[in-house]
Amino acid sequence: MNALKVKTSDFDSISERTVTDVTKLSVNLSREWGNVSDIIKKKFSLALLLISLTFVAGASLAVIFSFLISRNIVTPVRAIIAKFKAFSSRDMDFAKELDVMSKDEIGTLATEYNRLLQTIKVVTSFKKMIEEDETVEDVYLRLGNIMTGELSFSKCNIYEISTLNDSVKAVFPLNADIADLPCGSEMLISSDLCRVKRTGQTVSSADYKGICRNYDYAGGGGHFCIPIMISGKVGGVVQIIADKETSQSSDLSRRLSMASEYITEAQPVLSAKLITRAFKESSIKDSLTGVYNRRFLQEIADNLTEGILRRGTVMAILMCDLDFFKDVNDTYGHDIGDRVLSETAASMEKCIRGADLIIRFGGEEFIILLMDMEPDRSMEIADKIRVAVELNKINTVAGVLQKTISIGISEFPADTQNLWEAIKFADTALYRAKSSGRNRVVRFSRDMLKEGEY
Ligand code: GH3
Ligand code: MG
Ligand code: MG
Repeated sequence: MNALKVKTSDFDSISERTVTDVTKLSVNLSREWGNVSDIIKKKFSLALLLISLTFVAGASLAVIFSFLISRNIVTPVRAIIAKFKAFSSRDMDFAKELDVMSKDEIGTLATEYNRLLQTIKVVTSFKKMIEEDETVEDVYLRLGNIMTGELSFSKCNIYEISTLNDSVKAVFPLNADIADLPCGSEMLISSDLCRVKRTGQTVSSADYKGICRNYDYAGGGGHFCIPIMISGKVGGVVQIIADKETSQSSDLSRRLSMASEYITEAQPVLSAKLITRAFKESSIKDSLTGVYNRRFLQEIADNLTEGILRRGTVMAILMCDLDFFKDVNDTYGHDIGDRVLSETAASMEKCIRGADLIIRFGGEEFIILLMDMEPDRSMEIADKIRVAVELNKINTVAGVLQKTISIGISEFPADTQNLWEAIKFADTALYRAKSSGRNRVVRFSRDMLKEGEY
C-alpha cells in the first residue's frame, strides 16, 4: 500500500512538472512567435514601402518620358503634319517657318520643310509677278535675270520657238548678237538643229560632254538646255551656261533644280501670254510680212500724234513703194513676189529703232514712222533704208533677186498738223520719186502741191 502511495506521488510530481514545463514552453513559444511575427511584419512593411517607392518612381519616369516624347516627337511631328495639311489645302502661311528644336531626324525634317517652304515661297511669288507682267518678253527677261542673278549662272540664253512655223528667235539677253550665241546662226534658221527641240528633253553636257553637235564647246564649262513646253510642244529653250567652277560646285544640282522649278512655273504663264500676243498680232499685224497693218495705224493715230505734239518733237513719215514690183509677179510668180515683200520689210526693219514703226499700207507700199526725229535727219535715214533694200539679195529657185524702192518723205507736224494729210504729202513726194527715175528719196515740199501732184 505504501509502495502504491509513493508511486502515485511520483506520478503527481511528474505531471505537475510536465504541466509547468508545457506551460513554460507554450509561454516561450508564444513569445518567440510574437518576435517572429514582429520581424515578418517589419519585413512586410519594408517590402510594401519598396514596392510603393518603385511604383512612384516608375510612374514619375513614365510622366517624364511622356512629357519628353510629347515635347520632342509628338508636338513637332504634329506641327509638321499640320503644315503638310496646310500645303494640300493651299492654306499655308509662308511667313511661319517650323522651329528647329533638335539636331536629330525630326530637326532635319523641320529644316528640310523650311527649305521647301522657302523654295515654294520664292517660286510662288515669281509666278504671281510674271502673271502680272504685260508681255511674253517681260517674262523672258525675268526668267533670264533669275538664272544669271539669283541662281548665279555665268550666262543664260533664251530661245523662243514658234509652235506654228518652228522659227527660232533669241529673246534673252535683249538684242543678243547672233555671233555671241553658242548654238550658231544656223540653228536660228533651222530649229531642228536644236536637240532640245527635237527630243523635248533637257540636254545637259554633264550627262555626256559634247552631247549637242550644234553647241560650240570652246568656252569650257557646261551647258544645260531646258525645254519650255507650250501646249505639249517645245515652245522655247532656256540655255544655262555654267563656267568650270560652277560646273564642279556641290550645289549645282540644287541650282539646276531651282532653275527647272522656275521654268515649270513660267510655262503656263508664257502659254497664256503667247496666245494673247498671237491674237493681238493677228488683228494688228500683216500676216505676210509681220509688220503692222493699216488698221493698227488707224487705231494708234491719235495717241501717236498727241505724243509727238506733247513732246514737241518731229515724226518723219516715209512712204515706200517697191519699184516695178509687178514685174516680179509676172516673171517669177506670186509666191516669189510674196518672198520679196517679206524680205523687203525685214531689211527695212533692220535699219530702224525700236520705237519706230513699219506699216504695210497697201500691196507693195509701206509707211515707216520715224519717231522723235532730230530735224532734217529723215532724208539720211530714208536713204540708208533705200540702200539696205537695194543691197539685199533674195535667193530664189529662179536665181538671186535684188529690188529697189522709192521713198517720199513728209514730217509731222512741220508739214501739217493732220496725220492723214501728212501721209498724203509723203505720197506726193513718192510720186515725184517715181516720176524722176525711181530708187530714190524725195522730201515733200509745198511747191509739189502747186504743180498739181496733190
Ligand atoms: P512702180 O515702180 O510704179 O511702183 O511699179 P509697180 O509694178 O511696183 O507698181 P504697180 O502698182 O503697177 O504694181 C503693184 C503690184 O503689186 C501689183 C500687185 O499684183 C502686186 N501686189 C500687191 N499686193 C501683193 C501681194 O501681197 N503679193 C504679191 N505677190 N503681189 C502683190
Ligand atoms: Mg504701189
Ligand atoms: Mg510699186
